[in-house]
Amino acid sequence: MIFAKQAMLSTGWAQNVRLTVSSGAITAVESGRMPQPGDTLVDTLLPALANLHSHSFQRAMAGMTEYRMAGKDSFWTWRDLMYRFTAHLTPGHIEAIAAFVFLEMQEGGYASVGEFHYIHHQPDGAPYDDLGELSSRIAAAAATTGIGLTHLPVLYTYGGAGQVALQPGQARFGNSVDRFNDLVVRAEMAVGELPADCRVGIAPHSLRATSPGDLSAVLGAHASGPTHIHIAEQPKEVADISAWLGARPVEWLLENVNVTPDWCLIHATHMTLGETRDMAKSGAVAGLCPITEANLGDGPFNGPSYLEAGGAFGIGSDSNVLISLTEELRTLEYSQRLRDFARNVMVVGEGSVGEALYTGAACGGAQALGRKAGTIAVGQLADLVAIDSTDPALCALQTHQLLDGLAFAAKDRVVTDVWSAGRHSVKGGRHIRRDQIVDGYRSAMQSLMAAL
Ligand code: ZN
Repeated sequence: MIFAKQAMLSTGWAQNVRLTVSSGAITAVESGRMPQPGDTLVDTLLPALANLHSHSFQRAMAGMTEYRMAGKDSFWTWRDLMYRFTAHLTPGHIEAIAAFVFLEMQEGGYASVGEFHYIHHQPDGAPYDDLGELSSRIAAAAATTGIGLTHLPVLYTYGGAGQVALQPGQARFGNSVDRFNDLVVRAEMAVGELPADCRVGIAPHSLRATSPGDLSAVLGAHASGPTHIHIAEQPKEVADISAWLGARPVEWLLENVNVTPDWCLIHATHMTLGETRDMAKSGAVAGLCPITEANLGDGPFNGPSYLEAGGAFGIGSDSNVLISLTEELRTLEYSQRLRDFARNVMVVGEGSVGEALYTGAACGGAQALGRKAGTIAVGQLADLVAIDSTDPALCALQTHQLLDGLAFAAKDRVVTDVWSAGRHSVKGGRHIRRDQIVDGYRSAMQSLMAAL
């Protein structure tokens, strides 16, 4: 049982709430109660967010790409360094880094993660003896940390728009559709050993890394479940896809593929007004990664038009240059304010921006990961986060202002507890396996740095 002084339920704020959790799900919610002996006591309970888009290994190169070289750095020069880095990653490194990254996400208040996983093979491109070796490593990191994993093996077949051959730096990513389908079967076996809330989806990397025929084949083989794709992140990508397929990326996808609410379109940064409205109507989730999009200079999302059209969105940490839920929320809103010379943008009509950001991302994130979560109600997974409303950053606020405080005024230290489908992995602000996981990460980084 969890007892919270206050909780944001699906029906609104409630006081003195007792929550019963059984087999990972919420089975009873009672307000106006007294705590009972044995209850886990928390201050303020919220539905925990899903982190819908992560490449965990990229955390290990955070801070290594912020030095300005001669000429102009860009997304594409960042990508070149990322490729050099991946050449030295071993399965052990990948597992240790993922465990540390998942720990950081949980300590930041996320209950689950969509791991968009595209390193599959050995550095020369040869498959491991077990085709799903690296998927198993991601699953092992999820088992160690207790995070709710939606594992998204990536189909990456071509090096650029127009079915260009893979570059040497992309050899570890490559699969034909047939081998990808075998890989998904192996990933399902690995994830099948995790708790029942964990699952496998698919992720065609991007339109430039696949072809219309391959995309159709892979979607035919995986007709339902989470389907994620990077799309329209950079102007060059829009130009390349337009030149190749005769339509802008989002436009082409919506016209040629049955995009359903199972889909998550990562970034969707560069859209016309028509694309923005059509994407919202599709019911797909916009996978926004505000810190990474700022770090890579992608540009701001078309927030106001998308929200007005009823579009769903969630938050991802993508490159993991910094893992901070509160920072993601405020960076999303601030990107809109800076572009529009306006305040309080990411809310339709009147209302709290923090609440609109938080509750929107909670529901959209859960939808994107195929988790029955995003609100606190009977029947939902117990994906929960407790924050401390007596923290100096929040202590002057009334209950209805707490999510504004969380989004704009607080640091992640206000997070005290996190449950992923009832697994209580963060207590008192610390992950229960912090020492072991951080030691493993330090060792992996020492070994990796020696190899670079
Ligand atoms: Zn990404």
